[in-house]
Order: sequence, then C-alpha cells, then structure tokens
Amino acid sequence: MLELERLDQTTAALRAELEGMPKRLREADAKLSGDRAALTSAKEALTHSLGERKKLELDVEQWKGRANKYREQSSSIKTNEAYKALQHEIAGAEAEASRAEDRVLEQMMAVEEVERRVKRLEAELKESEKAIAAEKRQIEAQFAEKKKSWETATAERKAIAKKIPADMLDLYERIAKKHPGHALALVRDGQCRACGLRVLPHMVQLLESDNNEELFRCESCGRILYSLEPIPQATPPKESATGAANH
Ligand SMILES: [Zn+2]
Repeated sequence: MLELERLDQTTAALRAELEGMPKRLREADAKLSGDRAALTSAKEALTHSLGERKKLELDVEQWKGRANKYREQSSSIKTNEAYKALQHEIAGAEAEASRAEDRVLEQMMAVEEVERRVKRLEAELKESEKAIAAEKRQIEAQFAEKKKSWETATAERKAIAKKIPADMLDLYERIAKKHPGHALALVRDGQCRACGLRVLPHMVQLLESDNNEELFRCESCGRILYSLEPIPQATPPKESATGAANH
C-alpha cells in the first residue's frame, strides 16, 4: 500500500507537470509575440518617418519651383519697383526652400535612427525565434518523457492495486480522495505523524509486528496507519524504471 501511495504521488506530480506544459508553450509564444509587436510598431514608425520625409522633400520642391517661377517672371517686369518686389519674393521662396531642406536633413537622421531600430529588433526577433523554438522543442521532449513516466507509473500502480484486497483498496481510495497522496500515516514515537494524535500502545505493537494483517486507522484524521519497522523488509524502497526516468 505504501508503494501504491508512492506511485499515486508520482503520477499526481507527473500529471500536474503534464497539465502545465501547454501553459509553458503558450508563455513561450507570448514572449515571441511581444517581440513581434515591438518590430511591427517600429516598422510603422519607419513608414511614418519616410512619409514625413517625402512631405518635406515636396515642400523643398514647391519652394524651389516658386522661386523659379518668380525668376522667369522677372524678364517681363517693366518697373523697377515691381522688379524689387519680385526679387524680394524670390529671396523669400529660396529661404523657405533652404529651411525646408534643413528639415529634410533632420528628418533623414530621424529615419536612419528608426531604420537602425527596425534592424536591431529584426535581429532580436530572429534570436528570440531561435531560442523559443529550442525552448519549445525542450518542453515537448520533456512532455514526451514525462508522459512515458506517467504511463509506466500508472501501469505499475494498476499491477500493485490488483494485489491489494478489494476492501482495503476501497478504503485507501476513499481516504485518498480526502487526502490526495497522503492516505497513509506513519506511526512514530506512538504518534500519528500526519495529525499528531497518540496511537494506542497495543495498536503500535500490532503495527510493528511482522505478521499483522489488520488495518488500523487514526482515530483523529482517519488515515491508514503504518509503521516503518516491519514494512521496509516487505517492500524495499524501489528505484525502478519510473524513478530513474524522472531524472
Ligand atoms: Zn492522524
């Protein structure tokens, strides 16, 4: 029965790990989608930056075009005053064109910065993808291994359960429902180690005798009592295939 409980604990722990695997895979994917989102927003920023640069370049062309138009008009000017006014317009348009050119240069630097950011994020994403793919492969390999261990332990448990009388097994299962993995309680120094209640001396004596076939339950917590004195000889601690596969 101790072996049964050990296997129940093993399978429960394995099941918990197996059930946690999809979450671990999702977490790995979530990490990746964060990196992808960062890259997407950087690319959007780049598109916006390029659009701004285009707009500013058009500004330059417009002001230059205007200055040219004024220059063409200057040949047909009759009065000195009109000529002066036109010269003033030309100078103004050229100054605007030059200011717009400065803004284009500034914007080009901004574009370069965003381009560097996009490149860096692309490289980082590639690294993340590699790392996450490796992590997922590892999780999947662990899953397969744990699943095998679980199957082995489950089969072993079935075989052991068969050897236990039906009423005993039934009792064990009922207590195990209330105390999963801890339906049995060790008696040491005359106490139930699960709840601390004193166990009657004659019960301890019976538990410690080699030929005891009777089941005793703790009067307080209801667990099935056992003593380690005779049991180790009956079921030596087993580092079987299941135990080894866990490491
Ligand atoms: Zn107890």
